[in-house]
Amino acid sequence: MYKKLLLGITLVASLLIFLSTAHAKRTFVTIGTGGITGVYYPTGGAIAKMVNKKKKEYGIRATVESTGGSVFNVNAVMNGDLEFGVVQSDRQYQAINGLAEWKDKGPQKDLRAVFSIHPESVTLIAAVDSGIKNIQDAKGKKINIGNPGSGQRQNSIDALEAVGINYEKDIKAESIKASEAASLLQDGRIDAFFYTVGHPNGSIKEATSGARKVRIADITGIDSLLAKYPYYAKATIPISNYPGAQNDKDVETFGVKATFVTSAKVPDDIVYAITKEVFDNFEEFKKLHPAYSTLTKENMLQGLSAPIHPGAMKYYKEAGLMK
Ligand code: GLU
Repeated sequence: MYKKLLLGITLVASLLIFLSTAHAKRTFVTIGTGGITGVYYPTGGAIAKMVNKKKKEYGIRATVESTGGSVFNVNAVMNGDLEFGVVQSDRQYQAINGLAEWKDKGPQKDLRAVFSIHPESVTLIAAVDSGIKNIQDAKGKKINIGNPGSGQRQNSIDALEAVGINYEKDIKAESIKASEAASLLQDGRIDAFFYTVGHPNGSIKEATSGARKVRIADITGIDSLLAKYPYYAKATIPISNYPGAQNDKDVETFGVKATFVTSAKVPDDIVYAITKEVFDNFEEFKKLHPAYSTLTKENMLQGLSAPIHPGAMKYYKEAGLMK
């Protein structure tokens, strides 16, 4: 009887030890993304999927959070609420250098780059009945420039300014989340909305497939902007992505890149594991979203302005992608 009891206690104790060590080994990380009809949300999902496959090996469990976008993600990664975030390349540049939204707070010194992902273009989606064919026609119109915390907000302001339109005086600017903009456009409550996003995406598909006819306006005549900021470059949106759009040719605009960032405080082994799983299984990763069609391992190392996290750097050196 006594022996049985002792055996029972030993068994329970070893089970408890086993469970607690197993628990201690599991690290939870959260990736901040954007609205669920954008490309950041499925991108966070794609990255999480790659590393979660090796849950047993690494003990990492990655989850995804829908957020207000780039600016929110930088701030959440900096204050430790999120371990990773998808962030526009221009916002990464501004955050590390203490510009734009970070002018008062100063340089975000702990921001670290991991890799860059798909190209994003500044997109102006407009109702045909608004008469907006080019950004120059935006004057006097009701336009969503994006929620504070989103990446598109500053891009919209910059683009409007470049063509001499002041967003506070010359248009009726709305500050709504991108995920809500398509239905507001279809309901006739706005004339147009800006979205800095990869293509194709659910939001623009939704906006261009309703009863109200919609086109994607060109954003041209912005050479001064391209000359002023190193992170902006000309871009084209293939209209074949959106069969419902009332355009007869591809859209001319400008853009940035989506990038994947973290904090210097996130341990090297976690960043290493995520980087390795994405790059070692690159062909599989690339198939997870049509916006990744132009990705190469090499161009995923371009457009980064924060220092590369040492965990990612360890992988790039091992893989011969960096010296
Ligand atoms: N570029 C947008 C932002 O930073 C998000 C785009 C997306 O969710 O795909 O707010």
